[in-house]
Amino acid sequence: MPDQQSTLTDAGDDLASSTSEASLRRTEARSAQIEAQIAKDPTGFRVMTGDRPTGNLHLGHYFGSLANRVRLQNAGVETFILIADYQVITDRDGTGPIHERVLGMLADYLAVGLDPANTTFYAHSAVPSLNQLMLPFLSLVTDAELRRNPTVKAELEATGDRPMSGLLLTYPVHQAADILFCKANLVPVGKDQLPHLEQTRVVARRFDERYGRVDPARPIFPQAEALLSNAPSVLGLDGTKMSKSKGNVIEIGMDADVTAKLIKKAVTDSDRHITYDPINRPEVSNLVMLTALCTGGDPVEIAAELGDAGGGGLKNLVTEAVNEFFAPIRARRAELVADPGHLIEVLRAGNAAANEVGEATLAEVRQAMNMVY
Ligand code: ATP
Ligand code: MG
Repeated sequence: MPDQQSTLTDAGDDLASSTSEASLRRTEARSAQIEAQIAKDPTGFRVMTGDRPTGNLHLGHYFGSLANRVRLQNAGVETFILIADYQVITDRDGTGPIHERVLGMLADYLAVGLDPANTTFYAHSAVPSLNQLMLPFLSLVTDAELRRNPTVKAELEATGDRPMSGLLLTYPVHQAADILFCKANLVPVGKDQLPHLEQTRVVARRFDERYGRVDPARPIFPQAEALLSNAPSVLGLDGTKMSKSKGNVIEIGMDADVTAKLIKKAVTDSDRHITYDPINRPEVSNLVMLTALCTGGDPVEIAAELGDAGGGGLKNLVTEAVNEFFAPIRARRAELVADPGHLIEVLRAGNAAANEVGEATLAEVRQAMNMVY
């Protein structure tokens, strides 16, 4: 067994370096390789991803991650999607209207084209084996390592003066359990989430070093890899990142009238001449980009065609584009929400499948830890 203290210290550096330029380049290159492999043969991959049920999903989620999930699923990659209900209480005092939110989120998933025939949907609270992995995993990390995690730091700052809960501090370990309970080897992430994934890789490595294997040929837990997405970051109506908790969102499931009203209120600037210049004109460029994403057009050309149409002209165009693009998704979502019994059925089937996978993993963990009684 390696010297535990030094293993733990080294990993702290690993976490910090996972965001360095050189490491980012390597991850980008590796992501391109993985994409090529998926195109040839998707069967060696299992993707794990998910969201916190803290509200309905919005256009940022759609273009920033859901569209990519649908693409991977349709390319034949087996996908596990976690509705992370236990993570809701990392930074709030209760679960809120959790039942509606879980079903609403599932309706969002199904409406955008994620399909229970190819994708497993499940909730944290319904998969005990996943959560049980937290215990051995927590013994493999230090509190200093967790406190250094950039995402934990960022989340902590976002919660203002609220004291950090133990659940928030240990969020990266819970995420390791999320990924490893089903032995996922691929996690679609944005750059900001790389330190989490590094923590998961560290946990998997340390478990192997400490407890060994059931099958001598391979560790119990894989080294999950990042699939870096080049997805855009969508701004909300106030010009800051579109985010559920900021009240600046257009939800996937909103109707055409509400969408039009909200876009009318969106922040733009006083220059009537429309250009696509994300650095200097973020708000206007965001609306141009949304139009481009919805129509499949090119943002520079869209801006040129708008010319001197002003903020009003731009808003009319983006409203039309968003409403047209999301119309079929919204129609499907409305049907899904009208039949909660079906949504519950889908979730129960997913929970059962996730439990089966998780129990099998936990059985190996018990065996490796010599805890089979
Ligand atoms: P919360 O307010 O609870 O943090 P949120 O709306 O910011 O919710 P997250 O749960 O933080 O959403 O985001 C989940 C994932 O969705 C992100 O990792 C990212 O991939 C994608 N995403 C969220 N918001 C955006 C956005 N505005 N633009 C692009 N992608 C986004
Ligand atoms: Mg967020």
